This record gives sequence, structure tokens and C-alpha cells, in this order.
Amino acid sequence: MDVLIVGAGPTGLTLGVDLARRGVDALVVERADGLFPGSRGKGLQPRTLEVFDDLGVVDAVLAASGTYPHRMVWKDGVRQGEQSMFEKVEADEGTPYPEPRMIPQWRTQELLYARLAELGGRVAFGREVTALSPDADGVTVGFADGTTVRAGYVVAADGGRSTVRRALGVGLAGETVDPAPFVVADLRLTGLDRDHWHAFPGEDGGAVGLCPLAGTEDFQLQARLPEGEEPDVSPDGIRKLVARYTHLRAADVTEVRWASGFRPRAALADRFRTGRVFLAGDAAHVHSPAGAQGLNTSVQDAYNLGWKLDAVLRGRAPETLLDTYEEERRANAAAMLELSTGVHRGEVKRGRATVQLDVGYRDSSLSVDTRPHAEGLRAGDRAPDGRVAGARLFDTFQGPHWTLLGASVPGVVSLPAAPDSYGEGIFLIRPDGYVGWAGRTTEGLEAYAKRTGALETP
Ligand SMILES: Cc1cc2nc3c(=O)[nH]c(=O)nc-3n(C[C@H](O)[C@H](O)[C@H](O)COP(=O)(O)OP(=O)(O)OC[C@H]3O[C@@H](n4cnc5c(N)ncnc54)[C@H](O)[C@@H]3O)c2cc1C
Repeated sequence: MDVLIVGAGPTGLTLGVDLARRGVDALVVERADGLFPGSRGKGLQPRTLEVFDDLGVVDAVLAASGTYPHRMVWKDGVRQGEQSMFEKVEADEGTPYPEPRMIPQWRTQELLYARLAELGGRVAFGREVTALSPDADGVTVGFADGTTVRAGYVVAADGGRSTVRRALGVGLAGETVDPAPFVVADLRLTGLDRDHWHAFPGEDGGAVGLCPLAGTEDFQLQARLPEGEEPDVSPDGIRKLVARYTHLRAADVTEVRWASGFRPRAALADRFRTGRVFLAGDAAHVHSPAGAQGLNTSVQDAYNLGWKLDAVLRGRAPETLLDTYEEERRANAAAMLELSTGVHRGEVKRGRATVQLDVGYRDSSLSVDTRPHAEGLRAGDRAPDGRVAGARLFDTFQGPHWTLLGASVPGVVSLPAAPDSYGEGIFLIRPDGYVGWAGRTTEGLEAYAKRTGALETP
């Protein structure tokens, strides 16, 4: 097998979908017997919606999700007024999805899993990876049941406590974001409207938030407990927590469907690649849930890696292309960690900074701009949507290929021009929607294509 993906969370499923549509021989293995049942990563950022557009799941995600409700602050059972959760980002031709969507993580995973199955991809459940032995030609992966599997490459998408990361001896350095313990739970209750994200600040440093989860009858509870307190995540403990911080009674919580405790940390793996093994998603970076960056950054790790693995496996690009995964994504994760810690501590507002539309790779060795003085889009920038000759760019980008705007080269999907919003030039758009190469003429384009696998598209 070419690629073994460890973990069927959002990272592993996204990569599974991308590799399946490329026809790569890949398998996702998952320790649990089924998909994760909790709502925790419930915010999908606009940039993730663009990725999902390309992967063919955005319509299902939009249908199953909702907009973020306003926050309603309560004191002693009385409404104190509502606040918007975000600074508004305006829609324009280049930004078809300006707002984050709310959808429980379990539903996002269900939709990705359905897409994977549709594309012929597979998840093997009840398969826990316990060991791995990499060598020059591949990796032998050992499972808890004593069996082994051989793969050309392994991607560790096995979450914050990653077995694979530990087996490789890759460090995870970081800091505590907040010394207080947190609880997250999915529950059903009576006595609150479903139009607001209800916030109940306590006087002891603790607080409870109750957010209606779009497309379900559930609320997500997020609670910060006073420092030093041990969280009780039993159904009874969750009911008591609601009664302690809100005007509701314990009996108003009619069902507790899932609950978990955690302590917010921000930490980054020392490396994202060790030979034939890659770390992606929470296995590579852990962070505070504030600002809804984790799942989104994880999806983009997978999206960055998929096309590179495909190009190298097919012999279209040299092995060194795979080094650009760590180069691009580790810098990005470091910036995201700073951002989510800032949001957690109230230093950064949710809005332009958190929608991930400005994420880019200008400093990457894969970003080549031969124009001496360019205005508008630069190599490394996200390639926005737009219209060229009546066609929607995102429709043209959709699929595993590169796209050339403003010139025509055999073997590459090409459009005669770029939209005016791009500025003047010829733009080669990577399969993951960033400008890889830009120039006034096509000089230098062929050499670039050879090292990235751009020209021999299927
Ligand atoms: C309270 C809370 C709220 C959050 N809110 C948001 C939000 O609004 N937006 C956002 O973007 N992010 C949010 N996050 C973060 C988000 O949940 C994570 O970033 C996301 O789940 C990471 O996905 P992943 O696939 O990398 O890892 P995981 O989702 O952790 O998946 C890892 C998978 O690997 C499996 N696995 C583990 N070990 C093995 C093994 N040895 N063998 C085989 N399988 C294995 C696990 O069972 C699991 O299914 C939140 C997190 C928390 C805790």
C-alpha cells in the first residue's frame, strides 16, 4: 500500500478523501470501533469551506450547518444583552464563504466519511497502531492485535496524544494556555432558546456556555472550572455544573450524550516529517479551542500534503517536494497557536484574523514570482474565486489538478486570463488553491513545473 493514514478524525478523513479522488492506494486505520461521537470542533472557517468545496462536500456541510448565533449573557436568571461573536467579513466575488459555519464535529466527520466511501476509500475500524519501524523503502506498522502492515508512507493523524509521534521520539514543546480545567459536553435541555449562545459567567472564576448545535436538538456545554477543581464528567456531574452556574435546574438537562474534560495547552511538534512518516492535525499541534482554529488547521494540513504525496508517488515530482509540507505547515501552525492563545486570553477578536482566508505561503520555497514589481496577488497567496469568460474559478479549480491562468500549456487546465482582482500576470494555481508560480511571461514555468509535478496532469 502507498499511504497508511493513522486516525479517522477530521485530518485522516480529509486526507483519505483527497487521496481517494486521486486514485492513490491508501487506507485509514482507526483505533475506535466507529467515528468520534462528540461535537467539540464545531466551527468551520471560510477557508475550510473552500477546501470542502474542492473536495465535493461543501453542499452537504452547508445543508447540515448553521450560522453562529449571537452570544447572550445571563446574570441571576436575567438576560444582560447580546453580543456578536465575530467582526463581520464582507462577501465579495473572491470570497463566496465569508462566514464561519457551525456544525458538530461528529457531523463533519460523518460527511467526510460518506464522501470517502463514495470515492471508494476505506476506514478500517478497531485497528490500533502500537509500533512502527521505518526503513529506506517504507514503513512497517504494528497493531495492537499483533498484525503488521507495510506502507510506502505513513501519516500520523492520531490526535494530540499521537502514538506515532511518540514512537518516532518527536518532541512536542509548548505552554499551558490556561491553568483552569475545562469541560465540554453535548446535552439536551429545556428552558433555553435555540437562537443564542448562552453565557453564564460565575463569580468564582468559573463559567458555563451553552450553545445550540445547528442541525441537532443538542446544546454544546463548555465550562471553565475554578483552578484546582477536578472536573466531574459523569451525567450527574454535568447536570450539577449546569445548575451551579445557570438559572436552570439539574433536572432541566434531559440527556447528557457525551462529555470530556481537558486543559488548554498550546504546543507544536519539533518536526512534521521524519523520513517516510508525516505528522498532521492535532498530532502536530495542540491548542486552545478558542477561536475555532484546530480542526480547520488540521484539515489544511491534510490538504497541503495530499497532492504532494500523489505527485511523488507517481514520479511526477522529486522526493524533496515532500519537505515543503513541514516548511509550509509548521510555520502556519506556529502562527495559528499564537492566534488561538490570543483569542483564549481575550487579546484577539474573532473575525478577519480567524477565518483563515489570509493564510498563505509567500515565504515558501514553492512560491516563485518572477515579476519584479507585482501589484495584487503574489506567489504563495490564496487564489480567490472570480469569473473568467463566464466561468467560476472555483469550479475550474475543483479537482486534483493545477490550473494556469493567462497562458496555455499542453497538459494543464488553462484559462485565457486571470480576473482583474488578481492583478497583471500569468498565474499557476496549485491543487490546494494557492498561487505557486507567477510571471509576466511563461519563462521559468517549465522548470518550476518539473520540481512540483505541475504539468503532467491526469
Ligand atoms: C472543547 C473543544 C472544542 C473545540 N472547538 C473547535 C472548533 O470550534 N473549531 C476547530 O477548528 N477546532 C476545535 N477543536 C479542536 C478539534 O477538535 C481538533 O483540532 C480536531 O479534532 C483535530 O483532528 P485530528 O483528526 O487531527 O485529531 P482527532 O480528532 O483527535 O482524531 C484522531 C483519531 O485518531 C484515532 N487514534 C488515536 N490513536 C490511534 C492509534 N494508535 N491507532 C489508530 N487510531 C488512533 C483516534 O481514535 C481519533 O479518532 C476543539 C477541541 C476541543 C477539545
